[in-house]
Amino acid sequence: MGKIIGIDLGTTNSCVAVLEGSSVQVVPNSLGGRTTPSIVAFSEKGDRLLGQIAKRQMVTNAGNTVYAVKRLMGRRWDSPEIQRLKSYLAYGVTASDKGDVRISIRGREYSPPEISAMLLQYLKSMAEDFTNEAVTEAILTVPAYFDDSQRQATKDAGRIAGLEVRRIINEPTAAALAYGLGKKERERVAIFDLGGGTFDVSILELNNGVFEVLSTCGDSFLGGEDFDQRVMDWMISEFKAESGIDLSTDVLARQRLKETAEKAKCELSASAETHINLPFIAGDAHGPRHFDRVLTRATFENLVRELIERTTPYCEKALHDARLSRAQVDKVIMVGGQTRTPAVLQHAERIFGRQPSVEVNPDEVVAVGAALQGGVLEGELKEIVLLDVLPLTLGIETQGGLFTRIIEHNSTIPLKKTAIFTTVADNQSTVEVHVLQGERDVAKYNRSLARLELVGIAPAPRGAPQIEVTFDIDANGIVSVSARDKVSGKEQAIEIMPSTGLSKEEIDRMMLEAKQFADSDRKAKETAQIHNRIQGHVANIARSYAEFGRLLDNVEQALVKETIQQARDLPAGEDDIPTLNGVLSNLEICAAKLTAAMFSAPGEETDQENTVSEEEANDAEMHRLMRSAMGVQRTKKV
Ligand code: AMP
Repeated sequence: MGKIIGIDLGTTNSCVAVLEGSSVQVVPNSLGGRTTPSIVAFSEKGDRLLGQIAKRQMVTNAGNTVYAVKRLMGRRWDSPEIQRLKSYLAYGVTASDKGDVRISIRGREYSPPEISAMLLQYLKSMAEDFTNEAVTEAILTVPAYFDDSQRQATKDAGRIAGLEVRRIINEPTAAALAYGLGKKERERVAIFDLGGGTFDVSILELNNGVFEVLSTCGDSFLGGEDFDQRVMDWMISEFKAESGIDLSTDVLARQRLKETAEKAKCELSASAETHINLPFIAGDAHGPRHFDRVLTRATFENLVRELIERTTPYCEKALHDARLSRAQVDKVIMVGGQTRTPAVLQHAERIFGRQPSVEVNPDEVVAVGAALQGGVLEGELKEIVLLDVLPLTLGIETQGGLFTRIIEHNSTIPLKKTAIFTTVADNQSTVEVHVLQGERDVAKYNRSLARLELVGIAPAPRGAPQIEVTFDIDANGIVSVSARDKVSGKEQAIEIMPSTGLSKEEIDRMMLEAKQFADSDRKAKETAQIHNRIQGHVANIARSYAEFGRLLDNVEQALVKETIQQARDLPAGEDDIPTLNGVLSNLEICAAKLTAAMFSAPGEETDQENTVSEEEANDAEMHRLMRSAMGVQRTKKV
């Protein structure tokens, strides 16, 4: 069985890590990067591009490149966040029948978990290449402040990608695990996590292997992407003031602005100003127009001040809920790429009254923590206990549209709680329970999770039936509900109708598609490898034939020429593996014949040591194969 990998599926970048022996390895992608852009693109030919490769073509293929999909996960279309975000996205988003968000690309609609699953599949294959084993299980991380629907959507993404999601853990908790592993002394730490799309603050007590979350708070719609948007808005208004041209409606220009805004923002973490130059960003009767401005750190800080200040009340609430004063927090740990902005660091210092620690790598620490949790579940790491909390209160809608709290936020999970319901009318045969999550007293302002219909209640006067409804929150923070008729002791028939999210059938269909895609991807990789080997052989054989072909008899010469021609005639798109392997083995026979002729020819200098040059590594490999195929020993003939 393969390892349980740890995946930080980030808004902007993702990271995958694996426990090897006693240390965690961050898995590099094929381009050597330790984090991978969370970007999926669809080419004109229908190919799927992922990660850095997708990012590279983002400007020229703006409408078909999906980024920041995490911001759409488990969200309702009509939520204010999505309504605000949609005008910033260069790709199309619409509503599903159920009111979820759908992404429309090249005439097809995708759910956000489906797109996330493509990224997960990619990260999974990176881990498989790295460990040389099949990977089937993973720990996924989510922002601590993700609600049940967002967690469910993340879990669905894992399933679609063919991964058994062994646990979903909160990003700040994963970071604390990576930071605190092996530390013996008792410490209270605040994890300040500002990533690409979300802000979380968690306060934990670490005590000799026990990681107890005391409180968590945050905003699942506040992150680096918002910083980029502020810079984009500044660029748009500067350009409009100067040229009168509105760039906000030009998709291509917006994509260029977005890319440049993020770059400028990152540069301002290290320098006091940055020069932004975007040639040919627009054109009018006067000809092409360019954007050319200097953005100073001071101006940037003014643009994003309000975003940074938005973190303050969450930190104060987290301290309050943990019943700690800021002086009782021993360490503040910064997590998430956006905490590299100096103003964010200074702000965290002002809130907690101490200099934040930068001893962990903010981009990798979450994936490292997830891989460690994988080690805990596999039994490789012992004596570690993670006690996490429910981020948002769970309750039901009661008469008058009010929200009745059943399990308060910051309760330690896993947890089970039961509430008794009854009927409001005589002989009522069904009861509807509307389960919600959130902190508002009016039900409709909270997140609707599911409606449960208890059917088949035996006729009885109102108020007589006693229906016990049990809310069960697992270690992933995911809620399930069951019901029992207390009077009869029988389990009630219960129908759970998730208010949003994917149905089981939809997930099954997407899993199948994803698997088919993975299979065809694997086949494409295999055929490409054989094509490459064929091309390498053809080049080598043609070269050897030009030099030594005369040593073969007429029949063999004809055979070599025909085989080379057969290989050259192969269509580039030939994907029949037996056909390709047939051509490859014919080439190998020709190569062997040529080698034998070379070795047996009198007076030929065939010192392999000398003839095999470094840049002809392919040749070397082929000669080795040829020698072993012919049973020829390396000899030097004079
Ligand atoms: P994460 O989700 O942790 O990968 O954080 C990604 C966010 O961090 C993105 O919005 C990045 O633009 C931002 N980020 C990465 N590096 C820097 C940097 N040097 N300065 C400011 N922001 C950064």
